[in-house]
Amino acid sequence: MSTFMKPLVFLLFCISMQMCSQVKQPQKSNSTEKSKSMENSSTKNNPYYSRTDHTKLNVANSEWKKILSPEVYAVSREAETERPGTGKYNNFDALGEYYCAVCGNHLFRSDSKFSSTCGWPSFFEAEKDGVIYKRDSTYGMERTEVLCKRCDSHLGHVFNDGPPPTGTRFCMNSVSLDFVADNKTAAK
Ligand SMILES: [Zn+2]
Repeated sequence: MSTFMKPLVFLLFCISMQMCSQVKQPQKSNSTEKSKSMENSSTKNNPYYSRTDHTKLNVANSEWKKILSPEVYAVSREAETERPGTGKYNNFDALGEYYCAVCGNHLFRSDSKFSSTCGWPSFFEAEKDGVIYKRDSTYGMERTEVLCKRCDSHLGHVFNDGPPPTGTRFCMNSVSLDFVADNKTAAK
């Protein structure tokens, strides 16, 4: 009896170990998904992403295409615009910092965000060394495009109909931004 039970117990032990390791895996991918839903960037697979390194990047789009999600790539590298009212930071007023979803460069502070009816997250002021400007005359309009200073990714456009104190309205795509809440920044 006991000689029969021993291998059976061992077998059961093996099966339970197997089940444990199977249970662990979905938990792991769950937490990854959670952090993904908080932020646009997939920092894990992006060797260029850094919130402290300000070195100018010169990375080809063919390389970015392998790293970025299709949504982030379309907006940031091909200057597409997300549909108004759909972005996750449009109606969002938590305190914290906004970074470039492509490279981690600091772009905006929540203090400069204001409620705009245009359908995209809007700011009256950008980080001084965070952005650059480019003339954009596509779609028969004269506009000023806003790009990340570090990685040249498209962020949105800037207009001169914003509120005081600057009168400027940075009209941004949510997908180009990564928000980090104040308490999270302090903890890092
Ligand atoms: Zn960037």
